[in-house]
Amino acid sequence: MAETKATCPYCGVGCGVIIQHDGARVIEVRGDPDHPANFGRLCSKGSTLHFTARPETRLIFPELRQGRAEPRARVSWEQALDTAADRFASVIAEHGPDAVGFYLSGQLLTEDYYVFNKLAKGLIATNNVDTNSRLCMSSAVAAYKQTLGADAPPCAYEDFDHTDCLLIAGANPAFAHPIAFRRIEAAKAARPGMKIIVVDPRRTDTAASADLHLAILPGTDIWLFNAMLHVLLWEGYVNMPWVREHTEGFEALREAVREATPATAAQICGVNEADIITAARWWGEAQAPLSLWCMGLNQSHHGTHNGTALIALSLAVGKIGTPGCGPFSLTGQPNAMGGREVGGLSNLLSGHRDLANPAHRAEVAALWGIESVPEKPGLSAVELFEAVREGKVKALWIACTNPAHSMPQQALIREALEKCEFVVLQEAYANTETAAYADLLLPALTWAEKEGTVTNTERRITHVNAAIPGPGETRADWAIARDFALCLGAKLGRKDVHRLFAYPNAESVFLEHAESTRDRDLDITGLSYAVLDELGPQQWPFPAGASEGRSRLYADGKFETESGKAKFVVPATTLTSEAIDARYPLRLTTGRLRDQWHGMSRTGKAARLYAHVDEPRIELNKADIERRGLRDGDLVSVKSRRGKVVLRAYATEEIKPGHAFIAMHWGRNLLSSSGANELTLNTVDPFSKQPELKHAAVQIEKVDLP
Ligand code: SF4
Repeated sequence: MAETKATCPYCGVGCGVIIQHDGARVIEVRGDPDHPANFGRLCSKGSTLHFTARPETRLIFPELRQGRAEPRARVSWEQALDTAADRFASVIAEHGPDAVGFYLSGQLLTEDYYVFNKLAKGLIATNNVDTNSRLCMSSAVAAYKQTLGADAPPCAYEDFDHTDCLLIAGANPAFAHPIAFRRIEAAKAARPGMKIIVVDPRRTDTAASADLHLAILPGTDIWLFNAMLHVLLWEGYVNMPWVREHTEGFEALREAVREATPATAAQICGVNEADIITAARWWGEAQAPLSLWCMGLNQSHHGTHNGTALIALSLAVGKIGTPGCGPFSLTGQPNAMGGREVGGLSNLLSGHRDLANPAHRAEVAALWGIESVPEKPGLSAVELFEAVREGKVKALWIACTNPAHSMPQQALIREALEKCEFVVLQEAYANTETAAYADLLLPALTWAEKEGTVTNTERRITHVNAAIPGPGETRADWAIARDFALCLGAKLGRKDVHRLFAYPNAESVFLEHAESTRDRDLDITGLSYAVLDELGPQQWPFPAGASEGRSRLYADGKFETESGKAKFVVPATTLTSEAIDARYPLRLTTGRLRDQWHGMSRTGKAARLYAHVDEPRIELNKADIERRGLRDGDLVSVKSRRGKVVLRAYATEEIKPGHAFIAMHWGRNLLSSSGANELTLNTVDPFSKQPELKHAAVQIEKVDLP
């Protein structure tokens, strides 16, 4: 049996896997003992990857339909790409380049992202290219940029081994990032004096392991962090010499948190005043305080300020960039970070450049050898689908993601996809909810079949290899984007298209991307596939001449802002965008299960992954179930102002009375929907444009079966 090294395609921990195969089929997987993200360990999802590599569930040749009422029929790649290029070219000719859009995925490899970004911004001249990473990490990106000056998580997994106070806010790594959590558990076992504080409305497995669980009400995180800063100030824990030398804006924040007394915050957050004071004291007394956050903070209509308020706690005590210290965002998807590196969002450009910056646009135009990059801001995820619904975007290309499941307020997304004149879906699997809307389906390679790179939560880049060929006529995602670009470029009369997309292989794309990072904060000009194979996965920056990547950033107290100083931000103190009321009295939060991933297109194929939770359900406190005359297991209709789903009620003490929880994995089938996103709303953070997927006001009532 042959062995090939790759990474797990699920969460942002980015565990290394060794694929055992016979050259045609994946037989087994095991953790890569040499990979620094996991040292050989895999969680329930990663260790069952071989059960999910089933060719019979794959999309294996292009399919096209001539009209919405027609069934799709098999076509050649040549016909598929020619048709797509014809349709895109005619929309561009008639309505301009901003009448088309691309919606990508944090599951794509960095090389895939790079070519799509160049196709949209460099060839078509539209910035309408966004990604499901908008739903995942964009608030953390905006928070890092507002405070530290760059989208660069300053920490590493080894900081878990050094911290003496870990504040986990809006994250449940025990389920969503299990191998990172194993490392946290090991650190706690080795150093029982280490304090773990968990901020989460639910008593998750992560919260159950904490020394202190602050079960705040959804949307009140900023009040909690401000109150902690209030205590740090009041009790003399703020490192004023460091703050004066290395930061700006502290006085304004100090004024703002005056009113955030622990007593006031306790009332707003729904927790004990004494617990807020304890959390602040543990943080202030710690030699190495570390914060960790994910969707609970990011997926909010004030997600950016959730992040800046948490980062302020590290800046206030002047502990960042040294072992065990700093603010550390967890990445949801395996390559959300790589997508940001190549500028695969509507407001970014290659090499961590900003579209709004004229100098950055000129630099990218020079790198690509084109006249200019368009100035007009592109549409972010929610805006893009809204523009499709309004008929402003008429042709949409979706790659490796399932918006008819994962976007908020699903009724609007379905309406958009139904109205769109031409929908292309590039996918590995044929049976996603979005596939039903595709006029053209293009079969893509997937895990174990494709080569490229991914960047995990701790900025670590891994070279992933193809172990087996893909089934049927599947192609690599970057190659599909290249082939479409060549076809479209010819129709648009672009003589430079062959020069722009002269990529014989994935590494040629990687090397161009690496060159685009030269002298930027994420400079990886010292990396190539050969270097990554020889040295193993490396954290950026890794400039030319370096012998290893950098574990931590900002140890010298110099930040990526213009002044070189970190910035304190006065955060908004709004709560959730939708309040509960008499008609919709339950606070619904959404999240992940331990053994499923996203829309289950892959994990749903491994029977053993249903052993943990085998059907969609709404989790409720026992008291709420009894008060409504329900019994555990009854079917209930769950309604918000936007939609309705029918689920089984599940009684649990993990949820406080007045709260509810639905996992985001199940979606819609022909008969009904179990999807949490029927209920969520599409309000977005003003800076990151990330939607508030985490909270909605809902009501439940019993479904009477005939
Ligand atoms: Fe895969 Fe994440 Fe589990 Fe690691 S922790 S095996 S990356 S799902």
